[in-house]
Amino acid sequence: MLGTLSLAACSSPPSTQGLAKDAAAAMGGLDRLRGVQTVAMRGGTGTRQRLGQMAHATDEEMPGSLANVVETLDLANGRAALDYEIKMGDFGQHRQEVLTKKNGKAVGLENVAGRPLAVMSPSGLFSWGTQNSPEFLLRRNVVGIVMAAADTASTEMPQTRDFAGTPHAFGTTRLASGETIGLYFNTQTKLLDGFETTDTESMLGDQPSVYTLDDYRDVAGVRLPHKITIVKGGKPYSDVQFASAAVNDADALAVFAIPDAANAEVDTAIAAGDYSPISIVKITDGVYFARAYSHNSLVVEFPSSLAVVEAAYTDAQSATLARVLAEQFPAKPIRYAAVTHYHYDHSGGVRGLAAVGATILAAKEHEPMLRPVLETPHTNPPDALESAKKTGKAGAIEFFEGMRVISEGGQSLELHAVTGIPHVDPKVLAFVPKGGVLYQSDLFFPGTGAPAGPDAVALLQAVRALKLRVTTNAGGHGGVGPFAELEKAVAAAQKGS
Ligand SMILES: [Zn+2]
Repeated sequence: MLGTLSLAACSSPPSTQGLAKDAAAAMGGLDRLRGVQTVAMRGGTGTRQRLGQMAHATDEEMPGSLANVVETLDLANGRAALDYEIKMGDFGQHRQEVLTKKNGKAVGLENVAGRPLAVMSPSGLFSWGTQNSPEFLLRRNVVGIVMAAADTASTEMPQTRDFAGTPHAFGTTRLASGETIGLYFNTQTKLLDGFETTDTESMLGDQPSVYTLDDYRDVAGVRLPHKITIVKGGKPYSDVQFASAAVNDADALAVFAIPDAANAEVDTAIAAGDYSPISIVKITDGVYFARAYSHNSLVVEFPSSLAVVEAAYTDAQSATLARVLAEQFPAKPIRYAAVTHYHYDHSGGVRGLAAVGATILAAKEHEPMLRPVLETPHTNPPDALESAKKTGKAGAIEFFEGMRVISEGGQSLELHAVTGIPHVDPKVLAFVPKGGVLYQSDLFFPGTGAPAGPDAVALLQAVRALKLRVTTNAGGHGGVGPFAELEKAVAAAQKGS
C-alpha cells in the first residue's frame, strides 16, 4: 500500500499516452500545439533516393540532391505542399506539388518550371521531394503525431528500445487514419526522436519506414525538428536539413491558392475522382497519341482490343487514360500495356493499367525493377491493382527477350528491346508498321525542334539497324513529328561535333 502511494506521488504511470504528453510539453505544451494551424519549413537542403532512374535495372540507385526545399502544411484544412529543386546528374528541375482544396474537396496542382500548371486529383501528384506525394506530409508530421498520441488513451507499458544508437522509450499509438505507429521518445529531452510505420509507396509498395527527427528548435514558442531523415525498406529514402520554420504564417498559405484560369479543370478533377490531364489525338488509322501534360503514351487499335505503349507517370493518369479510351472505344478493352523502360516517371502508371486488366509487356532485363512494382503489396491504403487482384481482374505480366509482336487482323505492334542507348539499357522501341509510327521516350522530343543528343543519335542507329520504315515519330516527351526531323537533328549534331 505504501509502495503504491509513493509511486503515485512521484509520477503518472508510464504509458505511451503519458510519454506523448511529456513530448508535447517539451515542444511547448499541448495547447500551443493545438494552436498550430500551419507550419512552413524553409530553406531545406538534402538528398532524395529511390527515384528509379538507373541505366541498368540492377545498377545502384543514383541519389538526387535537393535544394531550396519548402514544405508547407495546413493542418487545420488538410492541405500540404512540396516545393524544391532536384538535381540528378545532368538533370535539374524546380518542382512544386500542391495538395489543396476547393470547397472542402481535395485537388492537386503540379507546377514545374517551364511547363504550364497542371491540375489533377491528389492521386495524380508525383514528387521527387522528400516524399513522393504531399499527402505524406500530412500523415507523417510531428505535430499531428504527438497530438494524436497525447489524445489517445493507452495503458500500454512502454519498452526500452535502441534508436539512433541510444536507448529510447518506445510505445505505439493509432493515428486518425487507423494506422499503428511506433514512437521513440528521448528519455532526457522527452522529445519525439523518431517514429516507424508502414508507408505505401506508389512504386515500392508497402515499406517499413523509419523517420528520424533531429535539431529541434524553438519557432514562436513551439519546438520543431529541422532535420528529418527517412529510411524506407531499410534503405535511405530522403533527408533534409531546414534552415528555418514558421508557424501560423498567413503568407505561407499563398501556395494553396487556385489560379482563376485553373478553376474549370479543378472542378473536372474533383468530379472525376482519379484524374490527370490527357487527350487522344489521331496519328494515323488505328494509331493514336495520348497527349498528357508531360509524359505521353501511344495507343494502338486492334479489331477487338487496344494496346497502350508507356504506362506513364501515375496511376491517376492510367485511370484517366482508361476512362477516355473506354468512351472512345467502348467495345475494345486495353489488352496490353507495354513498358519502354522502368524509370519511375515512365512506368508510374503500370499498376493502374494492370488494374484495368491489361497484360503488362516488358523487356526481360527490366524484370528486376518492374516485377517488384507489380507484385509488392500496396495496402496502406490499397490501390486499384491491390483491389483488382482480390477480384481476379488484374492483368498478368509478361517479359520478353529481344522482340515481341502483337498482331490481329492486319494491325501489328512491334516491341524491340534495343541495346546501346545511353539513357537506359536496353530500351524498348515501339513500332507500328501500318502507318510507320515509331514511339520512344526520353531519347528525342519529336515535334519540338529539339536538338539531338547522344540518345537521339543512338535511336537513329537502332532504327536503321532494325530496318524499320518509320515515317512518323511519337514521343513520350514532346509530341508527334516526321521521321525526317530526327534525321535532320542527328545530321546537325554530327556536323557540329
Ligand atoms: Zn527515362
